[in-house]
Amino acid sequence: VVVITTLTFRMLHGARDLAMALIDTSQQFSYLDETLEIVGVPHTLTDAPDAPALVPGAGTVRFEGVSFGYDKARPILHDLSFDVPAGQKVGIVGPSGAGKSSILQLVQRFYDAQAGRVLIDGQPAAGVTQESLNQAIAMVPQEVLLFHRSVMENIRFARPDASDADVQRAAEAAGCAEFIADLPQGYDSIVGERGTSLSGGQRQRIGIARAFLKDARIVLLDEATSALDTESELAVQAGLERLMVGRTVLAVAHRLSTIAEFDRVLVVERGRIVEDGAPQHLLMREDGEFRRLWTMQAQGLELDDKPQPRLR
Ligand code: ADP
Ligand code: MG
Repeated sequence: VVVITTLTFRMLHGARDLAMALIDTSQQFSYLDETLEIVGVPHTLTDAPDAPALVPGAGTVRFEGVSFGYDKARPILHDLSFDVPAGQKVGIVGPSGAGKSSILQLVQRFYDAQAGRVLIDGQPAAGVTQESLNQAIAMVPQEVLLFHRSVMENIRFARPDASDADVQRAAEAAGCAEFIADLPQGYDSIVGERGTSLSGGQRQRIGIARAFLKDARIVLLDEATSALDTESELAVQAGLERLMVGRTVLAVAHRLSTIAEFDRVLVVERGRIVEDGAPQHLLMREDGEFRRLWTMQAQGLELDDKPQPRLR
Protein backbone atom coordinates (compact mmCIF):
# COMPACT_ATOMS: atom_id res chain seq x y z
CA VAL A 1 0.00 0.00 0.00
CA VAL A 2 2.80 2.38 0.88
CA VAL A 3 4.56 1.76 -2.42
CA ILE A 4 1.37 2.19 -4.41
CA THR A 5 0.53 5.33 -2.54
CA THR A 6 3.90 6.93 -3.11
CA LEU A 7 3.88 5.95 -6.75
CA THR A 8 0.40 7.23 -7.28
CA PHE A 9 1.27 10.40 -5.40
CA ARG A 10 3.76 11.07 -8.17
CA MET A 11 1.39 10.24 -10.97
CA LEU A 12 -1.83 11.80 -9.86
CA HIS A 13 -2.78 15.26 -8.88
CA GLY A 14 -5.56 17.83 -9.00
CA ALA A 15 -8.98 16.22 -9.24
CA ARG A 16 -7.40 12.92 -8.36
CA ASP A 17 -6.65 14.12 -4.87
CA LEU A 18 -9.94 12.72 -3.72
CA ALA A 19 -9.13 9.29 -5.05
CA MET A 20 -5.83 9.44 -3.25
CA ALA A 21 -7.38 10.50 0.01
CA LEU A 22 -9.73 7.55 -0.19
CA ILE A 23 -6.99 5.14 -1.17
CA ASP A 24 -4.84 6.45 1.62
CA THR A 25 -7.44 5.70 4.25
CA SER A 26 -8.72 2.52 2.66
CA GLN A 27 -5.46 0.65 3.38
CA GLN A 28 -6.51 -1.65 0.62
CA PHE A 29 -4.89 -1.94 -2.69
CA SER A 30 -8.01 -3.33 -4.34
CA TYR A 31 -9.78 -0.07 -3.64
CA LEU A 32 -7.75 1.70 -6.30
CA ASP A 33 -9.97 0.91 -9.28
CA GLU A 34 -13.10 1.41 -7.27
CA THR A 35 -11.99 4.79 -5.93
CA LEU A 36 -11.01 6.03 -9.34
CA GLU A 37 -14.46 4.94 -10.53
CA ILE A 38 -16.15 6.87 -7.74
CA VAL A 39 -14.51 10.14 -8.68
CA GLY A 40 -14.97 9.50 -12.37
CA VAL A 41 -11.29 9.80 -13.17
CA PRO A 42 -10.33 7.74 -16.18
CA HIS A 43 -7.44 5.44 -15.53
CA THR A 44 -7.22 4.14 -19.04
CA LEU A 45 -5.09 6.98 -20.39
CA THR A 46 -1.66 5.57 -20.95
CA ASP A 47 1.56 6.94 -22.36
CA ALA A 48 2.41 5.86 -25.88
CA PRO A 49 5.28 3.37 -25.60
CA ASP A 50 7.69 5.84 -27.16
CA ALA A 51 6.16 9.02 -25.66
CA PRO A 52 8.86 11.61 -24.98
CA ALA A 53 8.90 13.74 -21.85
CA LEU A 54 7.54 17.25 -22.28
CA VAL A 55 10.37 19.72 -22.67
CA PRO A 56 9.22 22.57 -20.44
CA GLY A 57 9.37 25.97 -22.08
CA ALA A 58 8.17 29.41 -21.05
CA GLY A 59 4.65 28.06 -20.38
CA THR A 60 2.32 28.43 -23.36
CA VAL A 61 -1.10 26.77 -23.69
CA ARG A 62 -2.87 26.34 -27.00
CA PHE A 63 -6.23 24.77 -27.88
CA GLU A 64 -6.63 23.92 -31.57
CA GLY A 65 -10.20 23.09 -32.57
CA VAL A 66 -10.81 21.08 -29.42
CA SER A 67 -14.11 19.21 -29.15
CA PHE A 68 -14.80 17.08 -26.12
CA GLY A 69 -17.48 15.24 -24.18
CA TYR A 70 -17.15 12.92 -21.21
CA ASP A 71 -19.59 10.80 -23.12
CA LYS A 72 -19.12 10.96 -26.89
CA ALA A 73 -22.87 11.19 -27.30
CA ARG A 74 -22.99 14.38 -25.26
CA PRO A 75 -20.48 16.99 -26.45
CA ILE A 76 -19.43 19.51 -23.81
CA LEU A 77 -16.80 21.63 -25.59
CA HIS A 78 -17.26 22.58 -29.23
CA ASP A 79 -14.34 23.40 -31.51
CA LEU A 80 -12.49 25.50 -28.97
CA SER A 81 -9.44 27.45 -30.11
CA PHE A 82 -7.32 29.87 -28.14
CA ASP A 83 -3.69 30.59 -27.64
CA VAL A 84 -2.21 31.69 -24.33
CA PRO A 85 1.28 33.18 -24.55
CA ALA A 86 3.75 32.67 -21.73
CA GLY A 87 3.02 34.78 -18.67
CA GLN A 88 -0.49 35.78 -19.70
CA LYS A 89 -3.20 35.77 -17.01
CA VAL A 90 -6.47 34.47 -18.40
CA GLY A 91 -9.76 34.40 -16.52
CA ILE A 92 -12.39 31.90 -17.62
CA VAL A 93 -15.94 32.92 -16.75
CA GLY A 94 -19.43 31.82 -17.64
CA PRO A 95 -22.51 30.13 -16.27
CA SER A 96 -22.50 26.91 -14.33
CA GLY A 97 -22.07 23.89 -16.56
CA ALA A 98 -20.58 25.89 -19.44
CA GLY A 99 -17.44 23.75 -19.51
CA LYS A 100 -14.95 25.94 -17.62
CA SER A 101 -13.59 23.23 -15.33
CA SER A 102 -13.54 20.81 -18.25
CA ILE A 103 -11.12 23.13 -20.06
CA LEU A 104 -8.75 22.91 -17.08
CA GLN A 105 -9.13 19.12 -17.06
CA LEU A 106 -8.11 18.94 -20.70
CA VAL A 107 -5.05 21.14 -20.13
CA GLN A 108 -3.94 18.52 -17.61
CA ARG A 109 -4.95 15.71 -19.97
CA PHE A 110 -7.23 14.01 -17.50
CA TYR A 111 -9.17 13.22 -20.65
CA ASP A 112 -8.36 13.20 -24.35
CA ALA A 113 -10.20 15.48 -26.75
CA GLN A 114 -12.37 13.82 -29.40
CA ALA A 115 -11.14 16.31 -31.98
CA GLY A 116 -8.39 18.88 -32.11
CA ARG A 117 -5.32 19.17 -29.92
CA VAL A 118 -4.12 20.72 -26.71
CA LEU A 119 -0.54 21.95 -26.90
CA ILE A 120 1.65 22.76 -23.91
CA ASP A 121 4.78 24.66 -24.82
CA GLY A 122 4.10 23.65 -28.41
CA GLN A 123 3.97 19.92 -27.62
CA PRO A 124 0.74 17.88 -27.82
CA ALA A 125 -0.43 17.06 -24.29
CA ALA A 126 -1.60 13.67 -25.58
CA GLY A 127 1.83 12.85 -26.99
CA VAL A 128 4.10 13.36 -23.98
CA THR A 129 4.42 11.34 -20.79
CA GLN A 130 1.77 12.12 -18.18
CA GLU A 131 4.46 12.38 -15.53
CA SER A 132 6.26 15.17 -17.41
CA LEU A 133 2.98 16.95 -18.16
CA ASN A 134 2.04 16.80 -14.49
CA GLN A 135 5.35 18.43 -13.55
CA ALA A 136 4.82 21.30 -15.98
CA ILE A 137 1.41 22.29 -14.60
CA ALA A 138 0.30 23.25 -11.09
CA MET A 139 -3.39 23.17 -10.26
CA VAL A 140 -5.11 24.82 -7.29
CA PRO A 141 -8.47 23.04 -7.22
CA GLN A 142 -11.84 24.30 -5.96
CA GLU A 143 -11.68 21.96 -3.01
CA VAL A 144 -8.21 21.22 -1.70
CA LEU A 145 -8.23 17.72 -0.28
CA LEU A 146 -5.99 16.75 2.56
CA PHE A 147 -4.62 13.35 3.43
CA HIS A 148 -4.56 12.00 6.93
CA ARG A 149 -0.89 12.92 7.21
CA SER A 150 1.21 15.74 8.61
CA VAL A 151 0.99 19.23 7.15
CA MET A 152 4.56 18.75 5.95
CA GLU A 153 3.64 15.63 3.96
CA ASN A 154 0.45 17.19 2.70
CA ILE A 155 2.41 19.99 1.06
CA ARG A 156 5.29 17.75 -0.04
CA PHE A 157 2.75 15.69 -2.00
CA ALA A 158 3.28 18.19 -4.86
CA ARG A 159 6.97 17.33 -5.13
CA PRO A 160 7.93 14.22 -3.17
CA ASP A 161 11.68 14.92 -3.35
CA ALA A 162 11.38 18.40 -1.80
CA SER A 163 13.33 19.05 1.42
CA ASP A 164 11.68 20.27 4.63
CA ALA A 165 13.18 23.70 3.95
CA ASP A 166 11.65 23.74 0.44
CA VAL A 167 8.24 22.88 1.92
CA GLN A 168 8.56 25.62 4.52
CA ARG A 169 9.51 28.20 1.92
CA ALA A 170 6.49 27.24 -0.18
CA ALA A 171 4.23 27.43 2.87
CA GLU A 172 5.53 30.88 3.72
CA ALA A 173 5.04 32.14 0.17
CA ALA A 174 1.48 30.82 0.25
CA GLY A 175 0.71 32.59 3.53
CA CYS A 176 0.45 29.37 5.58
CA ALA A 177 3.32 29.94 7.99
CA GLU A 178 1.30 31.70 10.66
CA PHE A 179 -1.56 29.24 10.97
CA ILE A 180 0.80 26.27 10.78
CA ALA A 181 2.82 27.73 13.68
CA ASP A 182 -0.44 27.88 15.66
CA LEU A 183 -1.22 24.17 15.12
CA PRO A 184 -0.52 21.89 18.09
CA GLN A 185 2.55 20.27 16.48
CA GLY A 186 3.35 22.82 13.80
CA TYR A 187 4.36 21.14 10.54
CA ASP A 188 4.05 17.72 12.19
CA SER A 189 0.37 18.19 13.00
CA ILE A 190 -1.82 15.56 11.43
CA VAL A 191 -4.59 17.04 9.33
CA GLY A 192 -7.22 15.65 7.00
CA GLU A 193 -9.90 13.27 8.02
CA ARG A 194 -9.86 12.64 11.78
CA GLY A 195 -6.92 15.06 12.11
CA THR A 196 -6.94 18.75 13.03
CA SER A 197 -9.46 20.33 10.76
CA LEU A 198 -8.44 23.34 8.74
CA SER A 199 -10.76 26.08 7.55
CA GLY A 200 -11.62 26.48 3.88
CA GLY A 201 -9.19 29.38 3.56
CA GLN A 202 -6.39 27.43 5.22
CA ARG A 203 -6.96 24.45 2.91
CA GLN A 204 -6.87 26.80 -0.07
CA ARG A 205 -3.51 28.10 1.11
CA ILE A 206 -2.18 24.53 1.46
CA GLY A 207 -3.21 24.12 -2.19
CA ILE A 208 -1.30 27.29 -3.08
CA ALA A 209 1.74 26.04 -1.14
CA ARG A 210 1.65 22.82 -3.18
CA ALA A 211 1.65 24.90 -6.35
CA PHE A 212 4.60 27.00 -5.13
CA LEU A 213 6.52 23.84 -4.31
CA LYS A 214 5.94 22.47 -7.77
CA ASP A 215 7.19 25.74 -9.26
CA ALA A 216 5.58 25.03 -12.65
CA ARG A 217 5.41 27.76 -15.30
CA ILE A 218 1.71 27.05 -15.86
CA VAL A 219 -0.78 27.52 -13.05
CA LEU A 220 -4.44 26.52 -13.20
CA LEU A 221 -6.91 27.85 -10.65
CA ASP A 222 -10.48 26.79 -10.10
CA GLU A 223 -11.76 29.37 -7.67
CA ALA A 224 -13.60 28.03 -4.65
CA THR A 225 -17.33 28.66 -4.94
CA SER A 226 -18.00 28.59 -1.24
CA ALA A 227 -17.44 31.93 0.42
CA LEU A 228 -14.47 32.27 2.76
CA ASP A 229 -14.46 34.61 5.72
CA THR A 230 -13.03 38.02 4.85
CA GLU A 231 -9.70 37.49 6.58
CA SER A 232 -9.13 34.14 4.86
CA GLU A 233 -10.25 35.60 1.59
CA LEU A 234 -7.58 38.30 1.79
CA ALA A 235 -4.87 35.82 2.80
CA VAL A 236 -5.78 33.46 -0.04
CA GLN A 237 -5.84 36.35 -2.50
CA ALA A 238 -2.42 37.56 -1.38
CA GLY A 239 -0.99 34.03 -1.73
CA LEU A 240 -2.45 33.67 -5.21
CA GLU A 241 -1.09 37.01 -6.31
CA ARG A 242 2.41 35.98 -5.27
CA LEU A 243 1.98 32.62 -7.00
CA MET A 244 0.89 34.18 -10.30
CA VAL A 245 3.94 36.42 -10.69
CA GLY A 246 5.93 35.38 -13.75
CA ARG A 247 3.67 32.40 -14.55
CA THR A 248 1.04 31.64 -17.15
CA VAL A 249 -2.36 31.48 -15.45
CA LEU A 250 -5.71 30.04 -16.47
CA ALA A 251 -8.20 30.81 -13.74
CA VAL A 252 -11.87 29.87 -13.52
CA ALA A 253 -13.31 32.81 -11.60
CA HIS A 254 -16.66 33.20 -9.90
CA ARG A 255 -15.92 36.52 -8.27
CA LEU A 256 -15.22 38.69 -11.27
CA SER A 257 -13.28 41.20 -9.19
CA THR A 258 -10.57 38.50 -8.97
CA ILE A 259 -9.83 38.86 -12.67
CA ALA A 260 -10.40 42.59 -13.17
CA GLU A 261 -6.63 43.02 -13.40
CA PHE A 262 -6.04 40.00 -15.63
CA ASP A 263 -4.71 40.38 -19.18
CA ARG A 264 -7.61 38.56 -20.73
CA VAL A 265 -11.00 37.00 -20.15
CA LEU A 266 -12.61 34.10 -21.99
CA VAL A 267 -16.37 33.99 -21.59
CA VAL A 268 -17.59 30.42 -22.08
CA GLU A 269 -21.20 29.50 -22.73
CA ARG A 270 -22.42 26.01 -23.55
CA GLY A 271 -18.94 24.89 -24.46
CA ARG A 272 -18.13 27.78 -26.77
CA ILE A 273 -16.03 30.90 -26.32
CA VAL A 274 -18.46 33.77 -26.82
CA GLU A 275 -16.12 36.60 -25.80
CA ASP A 276 -12.35 36.91 -25.66
CA GLY A 277 -10.58 40.11 -24.72
CA ALA A 278 -9.12 42.34 -22.06
CA PRO A 279 -11.60 42.80 -19.19
CA GLN A 280 -11.65 46.59 -19.53
CA HIS A 281 -12.53 46.24 -23.23
CA LEU A 282 -15.21 43.62 -22.66
CA LEU A 283 -16.77 45.86 -20.03
CA MET A 284 -17.32 48.56 -22.66
CA ARG A 285 -19.35 46.31 -24.96
CA GLU A 286 -22.95 47.44 -24.70
CA ASP A 287 -24.51 44.00 -25.13
CA GLY A 288 -21.51 42.11 -23.86
CA GLU A 289 -21.92 38.97 -21.79
CA PHE A 290 -18.99 39.81 -19.51
CA ARG A 291 -20.52 43.22 -18.93
CA ARG A 292 -23.86 41.60 -18.10
CA LEU A 293 -22.25 39.20 -15.60
CA TRP A 294 -20.23 42.05 -14.10
CA THR A 295 -23.32 44.19 -13.65
CA MET A 296 -25.19 41.29 -12.08
CA GLN A 297 -22.41 40.75 -9.59
CA ALA A 298 -22.08 44.45 -8.85
CA GLN A 299 -25.73 44.27 -7.81
CA GLY A 300 -24.85 41.54 -5.37
CA LEU A 301 -26.28 38.65 -7.39
CA GLU A 302 -24.54 35.30 -7.33
CA LEU A 303 -23.38 33.80 -10.61
CA ASP A 304 -24.65 30.51 -9.27
CA ASP A 305 -21.76 28.30 -10.13
CA LYS A 306 -22.22 25.19 -8.12
CA PRO A 307 -20.31 22.06 -9.08
CA GLN A 308 -22.35 20.11 -11.57
CA PRO A 309 -23.75 16.69 -10.76
CA ARG A 310 -21.85 14.00 -12.54
CA LEU A 311 -23.73 12.32 -15.34
CA ARG A 312 -22.24 9.05 -16.35
P1 ADP B 1 -18.36 24.54 -15.30
O1 ADP B 1 -17.03 24.39 -14.66
O2 ADP B 1 -18.41 25.64 -16.32
O3 ADP B 1 -19.47 24.69 -14.32
P2 ADP B 1 -17.96 21.79 -16.12
O4 ADP B 1 -16.80 21.81 -17.05
O5 ADP B 1 -17.72 21.34 -14.73
O6 ADP B 1 -18.67 23.22 -16.14
O7 ADP B 1 -19.10 20.87 -16.71
C1 ADP B 1 -19.56 20.97 -18.05
C2 ADP B 1 -20.55 19.87 -18.29
O8 ADP B 1 -19.88 18.62 -18.21
C3 ADP B 1 -21.70 19.82 -17.30
O9 ADP B 1 -22.86 19.47 -17.99
C4 ADP B 1 -21.30 18.72 -16.35
O10 ADP B 1 -22.43 18.08 -15.83
C5 ADP B 1 -20.51 17.78 -17.25
N1 ADP B 1 -19.47 17.07 -16.51
C6 ADP B 1 -18.49 17.62 -15.75
N2 ADP B 1 -17.67 16.68 -15.25
C7 ADP B 1 -18.13 15.49 -15.70
C8 ADP B 1 -17.71 14.12 -15.55
N3 ADP B 1 -16.64 13.80 -14.83
N4 ADP B 1 -18.44 13.17 -16.16
C9 ADP B 1 -19.53 13.49 -16.91
N5 ADP B 1 -19.98 14.75 -17.10
C10 ADP B 1 -19.29 15.74 -16.52
MG1 MG C 1 -16.51 24.37 -12.61
